Amino acid sequence: MQSQRILSIKTPVGPPIEIIRHTFSSQLPKPAKRVSLVAGLHGDELEGLYICHQLIETLKKLEAENAIKGEVHIYPAANPQALDAGTRLWPFFSIDINRTFGEKNTPFLASKVSRTLFEDLRSHSDLVVDFHASNLHLIELPQIRIIQGFEKKLVPLAELCNVDLIWVHPHAEIFESTLGYNLNKAKIPTLVIETGICLRIHKTYCNQIVSGILNLLQKTGTIKSVEPLTEVAMPKLVQPKNVAMVQAAHAGLFIKQVEVGKTLNKGEKIGDLIDPVQGQVLEEIRSPCSGLLFTLREHPLTGKGAPLARIASEESQ
Ligand SMILES: [Zn+2]
Repeated sequence: MQSQRILSIKTPVGPPIEIIRHTFSSQLPKPAKRVSLVAGLHGDELEGLYICHQLIETLKKLEAENAIKGEVHIYPAANPQALDAGTRLWPFFSIDINRTFGEKNTPFLASKVSRTLFEDLRSHSDLVVDFHASNLHLIELPQIRIIQGFEKKLVPLAELCNVDLIWVHPHAEIFESTLGYNLNKAKIPTLVIETGICLRIHKTYCNQIVSGILNLLQKTGTIKSVEPLTEVAMPKLVQPKNVAMVQAAHAGLFIKQVEVGKTLNKGEKIGDLIDPVQGQVLEEIRSPCSGLLFTLREHPLTGKGAPLARIASEESQ
């Protein structure tokens, strides 16, 4: 493994901000496939860092066995200053780095960071995986989100990654400044994985994704592991019409009764929305359909209209 600093920015008083790329070079004269893995664009999303840690450990062993047939690049901490602070945003100007990619980006230093990262990825990759966790409010089952229009190329790749579901969702303008959208537009297939919840590490989900990425690397010819890899499961493919969203009709505390990943029956209870001051149950939250509960509210403080759950249903919603 070789490590390279792709960017170094001076800070007012502390050490410089640096983005590191680790490279596992091909042990063939011509790399079979070049795959890049990116984590930590949002500084409070730690699941991707742990996934990269696990993958680096395994890839070092594979390198010693001459099993690297393509090139693997790992950017384990793409937003180091935000990661140090444990905040979603880039600390200097409170900017979301994952909203500074693309042509319409801001003239700030943050966009220099995103431009450098984008160009480095573009020149080194045939395929990119960008790891994200959820926000502080919701926990997510391991999933890949694909913007409609990119699904033809991305679904077959996403199926190799051992996630629970692939969610194809409509395009929205907000995605146009993300890393994933811009790489896909530049014809570099990019999978955006969303898993768990921010500021936590869900080991089971992370290990599930590590198996998926190793499977992706094996199936694309990037690695050739002699030892059999863990079997991966086929994800559920979910179209926008199959996603049912449950929102709070009242402000209160959400007390969940089930865990994310459960297959629910129509009408099954998900939890209660309570008024703790008056000692009242404001609303019993029940599933509007049968299906897989793939998003669930973890943060109990709930405003009116806040998302409580998402269910992937077999029927149109
Ligand atoms: Zn994120």
